[in-house]
Amino acid sequence: MRQSLVIANWKLNGDLELVNFMVSALASESYTADVVICPPAPYLSALQQRTQNTELAVGGQNCSSFQQGAYTGEISASMLKEVGCEYVLVGHSERRSLFAEDDQVVASKLVAAQEAGLTAVLCVGESLTQREAGQTMSVVKQQLLSALQNADLNRLVVAYEPVWAIGTGMTASPEQAQEVHQEIRALLATIDAQQAQKISLLYGGSVKADNAEIIFAQEDIDGGLIGGASLVAEQFRAICSAVK
Ligand code: PGA
Repeated sequence: MRQSLVIANWKLNGDLELVNFMVSALASESYTADVVICPPAPYLSALQQRTQNTELAVGGQNCSSFQQGAYTGEISASMLKEVGCEYVLVGHSERRSLFAEDDQVVASKLVAAQEAGLTAVLCVGESLTQREAGQTMSVVKQQLLSALQNADLNRLVVAYEPVWAIGTGMTASPEQAQEVHQEIRALLATIDAQQAQKISLLYGGSVKADNAEIIFAQEDIDGGLIGGASLVAEQFRAICSAVK
């Protein structure tokens, strides 16, 4: 049995009030899935303190590929670990497109995260143009295998997030999502067949309370990476409860 997982990606949203509010809203229930919240970095310590006696876990949205030194504005993976993170997102499409992170940068961040003892949540996914050109699988394969060259598959989660579904209200159909997840698992199996069965694969892109259950019911989908709906307590609670 794979561990199911739901991760809240707050992006550049939220404040201390939301930290307090979300922890009280979520901590009162227990979920089959592990639930992780990734707030903006300045709120990590506060979130870690508030979640101490709960089952909620804390994650970063990004980390540096560098460990320390003269890199103004960067945050290292070991700093995230020290303030209580267990997870960090790597290669989110917004990092790739808005902050020019290429496959090489993503690969080095992934190694930095794992070396610091974090579980890396590798995000992959095609754009609409790429999907329409029939390139979905080749794009996903390239992003996945290039990022995993020196990776430890024991500390890995993969999130498939079609770029055209992120924040747009357009979700991949359960069949479209399952097809890509199955392919991702098959690609992971070419590296380590046994471990590939154990890695949690998440779907992300406009998951809401009303579509979560059918998406999470797919065989190779073990949970979700949630943006917009993770900022709304009722929505996010329902999504966490929708996991099989
Ligand atoms: P969304 O974002 O749920 O708002 O589409 C998902 C993500 O970017 O991780």
